[in-house]
Amino acid sequence: MDLRETDEQQMLRTSVAAMAAKYGHDYLIAKAKTGEKTTELWAEAGEAGYLGVAVPAEYGGGGAGMVELAIVAEEIAAAGCPLLLIVVSPAIAASVIATSGTPEQRERWLPGFATGRTRMSFAITEPDAGSNSHKITTTARRDPDGAGWRLSGRKYYISGVDETEATLVVARLEDAASGALRPAMFIVPTDTPGMSYQPIDMAITSPERQFTVFFDDALLPDDALVGGEESGLAALFSGLNPERITVAAYSNGLARYALRKGTDYARDRSVWGAPIGSHQAIAHPLAKAHVEVELARMATTRAAWLYDAGDHAAAGEAANIAKYAAAEAAINAVDAAVQAHGGNGMSVEYGVGTLIGAVRTARIAPVSREMILNYIAQHTLGLPKSY
Ligand SMILES: Cc1cc2nc3c(=O)[nH]c(=O)nc-3n(C[C@H](O)[C@H](O)[C@H](O)COP(=O)(O)OP(=O)(O)OC[C@H]3O[C@@H](n4cnc5c(N)ncnc54)[C@H](O)[C@@H]3O)c2cc1C
Repeated sequence: MDLRETDEQQMLRTSVAAMAAKYGHDYLIAKAKTGEKTTELWAEAGEAGYLGVAVPAEYGGGGAGMVELAIVAEEIAAAGCPLLLIVVSPAIAASVIATSGTPEQRERWLPGFATGRTRMSFAITEPDAGSNSHKITTTARRDPDGAGWRLSGRKYYISGVDETEATLVVARLEDAASGALRPAMFIVPTDTPGMSYQPIDMAITSPERQFTVFFDDALLPDDALVGGEESGLAALFSGLNPERITVAAYSNGLARYALRKGTDYARDRSVWGAPIGSHQAIAHPLAKAHVEVELARMATTRAAWLYDAGDHAAAGEAANIAKYAAAEAAINAVDAAVQAHGGNGMSVEYGVGTLIGAVRTARIAPVSREMILNYIAQHTLGLPKSY
């Protein structure tokens, strides 16, 4: 077994890091403050082929896999300018369409994902369902005049709706005869009449925003349905592991960024005649966080590797483990870096307190720490279902 990255993967890592270093955390904060988007960074990453690295080569993508997309997500975050939309657009939406889309949907959307020019958000969470996606009520019915589908319902905390061309919506399909509901996914252009959205005021420093999204009898064409009438669940599952793996990679990158800031500061800052990093109370939390981050990075690569190898059953557990480990490691890394900075840790200028919202989110979304532990308890350890 060779755990080292290939020459191509190392080269990808180095070039993404070099590109992202031109932007950095100050760029992200400036954009968040003015309400602008990270348009230049996204465009450069797209043109260089980084965002489309996992899109099949026949559609103009890099033809690589989740290991490579995770490298891209991690290195951009490690420069302090994380792109949350990597998780929803190239990871979830492009994976779902590549694996479950019709030939026409692949033709229509994948070339845009390959260059990053197309961005798609992803909407599953609903106010009255939350973690229990079995309870979602956003429903699609056949249009009575045969024009396509009519979609109604409400989603919340949907990232990036304002900067994406379409939203991949998880809904329920109503069988006209029996009234039975089954899961289904739809591509909904964000300018569809009957779709509207409102920003949620979030406690996170980020240019990307979250929205409540409303579908009021929105009319969708027949070919908006992804995965067919019977295979909505399979289509959804094809996006969940990429989602978890890239959130893990994103968290690992943020953790590395915070650790670098924390250790640099602890080396330079002196208040009792010696650098504060010589006090173990400051050094040990940073060292412990480093160990945790390296373990999380290994778990993330393993999950991505299993996914690319087509072992989706093993990748499911591995992606949950990676996402859990990475979120916890990133929270601890940012906390240690903030503590090392003292009061400066809570200023915007020093650029570590500004990460608290982003890493804390990773414990909640896209699947919470508790739901991962439920999954491991039940499916890995064979314990009784607790809810
Ligand atoms: C910044 C951000 C971005 C997001 N982006 C998107 C997006 O783009 N698209 C999208 O669809 N969603 C998005 N979400 C939503 C996110 O996926 C949900 O917030 C998350 O899945 C949890 O659902 P909930 O908020 O309804 O919490 P709830 O389900 O109400 O849970 C509340 C708390 O109870 C715990 N809990 C619930 N059930 C159990 C149980 N059975 N056992 C133990 N504990 C339990 C949870 O772990 C959590 O701690 C985003 C959220 C945030 C904060």
